[in-house]
Amino acid sequence: MEAYNKTPDHVQLYDLMFVTLFSEKQVQERVRELGAEITAQYKDKRPLFISILSGAFVFASDLMRAFDGDCEVGFVKLSSYAGTRSSGSVQTVMGLEKDLHGRHLIVVEDIVDTGRTLHFFIDHLRQQNPASICTITFLRKPDAAEFPVAVDYVGFDIENRFVVGYGLDYEGLGRNLPGIYQLR
Ligand code: 5GP
Repeated sequence: MEAYNKTPDHVQLYDLMFVTLFSEKQVQERVRELGAEITAQYKDKRPLFISILSGAFVFASDLMRAFDGDCEVGFVKLSSYAGTRSSGSVQTVMGLEKDLHGRHLIVVEDIVDTGRTLHFFIDHLRQQNPASICTITFLRKPDAAEFPVAVDYVGFDIENRFVVGYGLDYEGLGRNLPGIYQLR
């Protein structure tokens, strides 16, 4: 049996069945709205979009094209220290090769779950004296929050259920789905 099986309203990845939560059209409309809001705030500030890999690369790519002005993009890969999920920190595996001092940073996440990744990463960025830091996530699960993190822009707040698509994967698959699918 193939690992990937898709119909208009559901997709199967390996053993799991997912149903459509947001269509490609809904996703793209929301990205355009967010792009317009970010443009209004950052148009003349030459912001640096920082995309957290791997999941956020799809959203970051659409978002920066919805931004109307000069901007740059950089990528970081973060990983958790081995240890407990609740108290563990987050480590930079692949860092930015840019000087962040005095820059306006827009940190782009795919989904904020416990808030752990953003909480530690923002702390790390602050130490490099940027002019400002703003955070944007396409999805957020408010009921899963465990770490204090202020998110400035949110695409959609969703239930605390596993989702795939638009950069998010299950066992490596599903990142290429243009909509968001929720575990049935
Ligand atoms: P946090 O650090 O906020 O707990 O988790 C953020 C990361 O966990 C996301 O960047 C993503 O990689 C992963 N994650 C959290 N919830 C989901 C989900 O529903 N689906 C997928 N595919 N990944 C998730």
